[in-house]
Formats: sequence, structure tokens, C-alpha cells
Amino acid sequence: MKEASLDFRSGFIAIVGAPNVGKSTLLNRLLGEKISITSKKPQTTRNRILGVLHRKRSQMIFIDTPGIHRARRRLNVRIVEAAIAAIADADTILMLADAAHPDPAAETILVRRLARQRQPVILALNKIDRVEKPRLLEQMAQWRDRCRFEAIVPISALKSVQIERLLEAMETVLPFGPPLFPEDAVTDLPVRFIAGEIVREKIFRLTGEEIPYATAVTVEAFEEGRGQAGVTIRASIHVERESQKGILIGKGGGKLRQIREAAQSEIQKMVGVPVVLTLFVRVQKNWRQDTRALRKFGY
Ligand code: GDP
Ligand code: MG
Repeated sequence: MKEASLDFRSGFIAIVGAPNVGKSTLLNRLLGEKISITSKKPQTTRNRILGVLHRKRSQMIFIDTPGIHRARRRLNVRIVEAAIAAIADADTILMLADAAHPDPAAETILVRRLARQRQPVILALNKIDRVEKPRLLEQMAQWRDRCRFEAIVPISALKSVQIERLLEAMETVLPFGPPLFPEDAVTDLPVRFIAGEIVREKIFRLTGEEIPYATAVTVEAFEEGRGQAGVTIRASIHVERESQKGILIGKGGGKLRQIREAAQSEIQKMVGVPVVLTLFVRVQKNWRQDTRALRKFGY
């Protein structure tokens, strides 16, 4: 064995965790806002490379998992399948939990699933800036009983606390090997696609339980350098029923405005230039059961 091969580690890290635990915040913290606006590679699967972190002695490739939920309808089944596939492809799993607002139901589904995985799992207990120390220690002890983690690292993604410790913990479980991506690679996703995902995430966050799974987002136009704006984006939110359209739009258009503003500001942060986002809501009956429609929407 060549000695040089023991100097470097590289591999895929699947980030899993319930919505709102801080996955995006952590990724932004780790990768900065380095997503290239000119990236033009096509999006092929739901398992996306979110970013590549280049370190002195390692290369960490973060992959997204669309969230593990109980699947009832066809779309949900596919989302769960994609999450499990992403986990299967990973060398290491990074599970995030919210230490300030534990969510035992969601965590139990995840922990049960992860217990069957062969890869090392590292738990990051996030938002410790919001937790008293005794409560945190108690939680860490409980987690230790619940699942065999390679490491449990309390962090604050928002306040940048213990991030380096987390990276070191992940580094020690990655396989030895050369870098898998060139040094300038940050993500293989087109910004256009990420923009659609950001809109989807805001819908998820700002509407009730029944809405998110009934929606798909397509980006119809993504134009750079027009007028005052850096980027002009037009996207459609597809729903199944008029009633869902009503909920999404909200009283006096208030809900849609909230979604639009939140998404626009996040996309703007990502691309680093002014963004004008326009959203439309369209009704297409039963798109969730229609395989052709699913394919069109990228599932
Ligand atoms: P995701 O759904 O898992 O991607 O979660 P986000 O990264 O979007 O975070 C959800 C919310 O939690 C946002 O309002 C974040 O600002 C907040 N958040 C994330 N990390 C921390 C943290 O370390 N401390 C605190 N107090 N809030 C955080
Ligand atoms: Mg997120």
C-alpha cells in the first residue's frame, strides 16, 4: 500500500433530519455561498449533490435526502425511496436533530431506519445556543441509549459553534482515498433547479400539513442580466385542487406573498445578485397519481 493514500480521505455524506432542524443553515455554514450561477449540468435524480467541501486532508461531498416520512401515496413512496437510495450511496450519514425542540416522532422513524444501515452515523445536536447545559447533557445521554452513533457532537449551525469539531468527527470516519471532484467543484446542480427546490421548501414551511405533498414546482424562466435585476425567475406551483390553490394563495394573496418573499430572499443570497421572482399557482387534477406528470416534475 502506498503511504500517500493514507494521507487523504474522501466520500459522500448524506445529511438527514426532520424539516427545520437546521440542515440548510449548516450547509451554508460549511460551504459558504459558493454555488456557481453558471453551472449548467442537467439534474437527473432526486439525490442531489448539495456541495463539495475541500479540506486540507479530506474532501466531503454532501448529498441531500428528501426527508424520510411515512409514505402513503405514490409521490411520497418515491420521496422515501429516494431518501433511502441516497443513504445507500453514502459513506457516512450525518443526522441532525434540533436540541431546542426535539421531535420524538420524526426522530424515531429516522433512528429505526438508520439502525439498519451499515455506515457510520454521526449525530449533530443542533441549536445548542437555545438549550441549557443540563438539558443538553441529558439529551446526549438519551441519544446514546437510543442508537449507536459514531459520535454525538453538540453544535450551533447558526452561531458557528463546534463546527470544526463536527468536521473532524466526520473526517475520521470517511474512507481513505483521493479527492473525487476537482478543487473548484462546489455543486453539480443547476441554480435553476435549486431555485425551484427553495420555493418548494418555503411552501413546506409556510403552509399546513396537507399542502406540501400536493405540490410540485417547475421553473419556467430563469433569465440572467435583464433590466435592473440580476436574475428574473418565473415559477409555477402545481396543485391538485382548487381548494389547495386557495390555501396557497391565502387571504388577499398573503400566503403566496410570504412564500414568494422568503424564496426570493433565499435565492438572492445564493446567487449574490438581485432576484425578481414571480410565482403562479396552477391546478392539475391528480398529478400525484399520474406517472407522466411525476416524471415531468422531476420525481
Ligand atoms: P432545514 O429545514 O433542516 O434545512 O432547517 P434550516 O436550516 O432552514 O433552519 C430552520 C430554522 O432554524 C431557521 O430559522 C434557522 O435560522 C434556525 N436554525 C438553524 N440552526 C440554528 C442554530 O444553531 N441555532 C438557532 N437558534 N437556530 C438555528
Ligand atoms: Mg433546508
